[in-house]
Amino acid sequence: MKCLGCKTEKLSKEFPSVTILDTCRHPPLHCFRCLIKVVEQQKKCPHPTCPEKVPGDCARLKEFQATVNRLFAEYTSTSTVDYTTAAAGASGGLQKISVVMMNGESISLSYNPSTTIYQIKLGIQQRLLHHVEKQRLIYNEVELKTYTDSGQLAKMGDYGVQPHSTVHLIIMLYAIPEHFNHAIVMCSVSRKTGVWKIDSLGTLSQGNAKNYEPLKATIRKLIQQGV
Ligand SMILES: [Zn+2]
Ligand SMILES: [Zn+2]
Repeated sequence: MKCLGCKTEKLSKEFPSVTILDTCRHPPLHCFRCLIKVVEQQKKCPHPTCPEKVPGDCARLKEFQATVNRLFAEYTSTSTVDYTTAAAGASGGLQKISVVMMNGESISLSYNPSTTIYQIKLGIQQRLLHHVEKQRLIYNEVELKTYTDSGQLAKMGDYGVQPHSTVHLIIMLYAIPEHFNHAIVMCSVSRKTGVWKIDSLGTLSQGNAKNYEPLKATIRKLIQQGV
């Protein structure tokens, strides 16, 4: 999702789900940081066509500021921790999983139930140089999401990932848009790229790859869930 202020692609959780005022007549298209900056400096809603003035003691502004502080704390705590040390945790007991790409190549990663999905993705990023945000991890046909529905970092234990099991890695070259009818999905697999066209019924037509068959059903399921 692209912010109207900083023109940067950001995660949806970096955007408020509501506008700064209930009287706004537009969707919230500014990220938390841009919104807060404009409101603090200009005491008005940042939306270009919105005339609403925002009072300095606006409760929602304080709420948004608190959210930004929480997001920032989350980022710094996860990005400065080496995932292998964090994975060892207080109780030790590291287990292994195989992360398998769609061309069959695999790497082994250590984890314990308190290891976050984000740490696993960071580990994959370090080893395979695929950016965290472009990774989709599938375990038992379920996507291992970075965040839980309540916005907390999800852990391997939340998904009951078993030792020595296999997690499939899909690399998205493009994020699937919210309205994904007729979207083109591209999965880069090392040097290979597969292309799927999704029609309005969610049917996938396959591109040029051969080994993708086992994961096709999973991808279709994810798409139906609107992931
Ligand atoms: Zn922004
Ligand atoms: Zn507004």
